[in-house]
Amino acid sequence: MQAPFPVIDLHCDTLWRTFTYGGDFKKNGYHIDMEKLRKGGALAQFFAAFIYMGDPAKAIEEYRDYAFSMISRFYEEIEALPGLESARVLEDVEKNKASNKISAILTLEEGGIITSPEDIDLLFSKGVRLITLTWNFPNSLGYPNKDWVHTEKGLTDLGKDAVKAMEQKGILVDVSHLSDRGFKDVAAIMEGPFLASHSCCRAITPHPRNLTDEMIRDVAGRGGVIGVNFSSAFLGTGETGTIEGIVAHMRHLKRCGGIEACALGSDFDGIFCPLELEDYSGIPRLFEAFRKAGFTIGECEKIAYRNAWRLMEPMGRPDESKKTEQ
Ligand SMILES: [Zn+2]
Repeated sequence: MQAPFPVIDLHCDTLWRTFTYGGDFKKNGYHIDMEKLRKGGALAQFFAAFIYMGDPAKAIEEYRDYAFSMISRFYEEIEALPGLESARVLEDVEKNKASNKISAILTLEEGGIITSPEDIDLLFSKGVRLITLTWNFPNSLGYPNKDWVHTEKGLTDLGKDAVKAMEQKGILVDVSHLSDRGFKDVAAIMEGPFLASHSCCRAITPHPRNLTDEMIRDVAGRGGVIGVNFSSAFLGTGETGTIEGIVAHMRHLKRCGGIEACALGSDFDGIFCPLELEDYSGIPRLFEAFRKAGFTIGECEKIAYRNAWRLMEPMGRPDESKKTEQ
């Protein structure tokens, strides 16, 4: 099937997957590689440097070294592939598109390697353009919503300073995985839009990783987006992450937050359930299903890339008027 829409997917773990389990971006047995991206219609892909900070015996320095090695790998992969190019500002995506290249945007999933607000500058200089503040462990920035245990625990002081520094720098703030209270803190601190890169709707599936209707309206109200996650656990579709499940969550997102808030955050290569889409090359089938469910072509374009594009406008652009006092 010909890819009907250019696609910006806000979250995948292919960098971590290949770095940890072997293989490269060119061709692999995972959800995302160059051929699959082409078949799916990729315009830009967000690649997360995901750090599993699960070993209390390990010093934070070790995790930082690990993160920086993974970031080096990101650039090695891009270097090796003429069809893939990094993008640090929106103009890069335009430029890459003009030369028929897919854009790769570097993100960090696990803010726990951040030990001071200055680390935001360091990560920015390495090309990180989105940070998922927490993963499933409490960290230096805040608390996760892995289960319902930490729901009411908010951002740490460092977390608040980091969010301010990120907004000033032009690093997108990602609340996926973050506790409910942490979400409220981000909403109170930030003036501009933020996103949930790979989360679904709690009204459909009562999972702590999903967003309540109030959160959806909060994100949407300030121009942010929510990338629907393809995992069966969040879609609430039993064993398999189904197309119907993604459509149902997208429909709810649209009803609750408006079409401008709707985006894709596949979580490809970070989820391990069977997927009806199989891998990235299945994405055209998803848009066929959106059309059948009544989404117009214009709405599909917004889901596919226009909303993510809008969100990326301040990306990589330091805002001097928001300089934090340090
Ligand atoms: Zn995740």
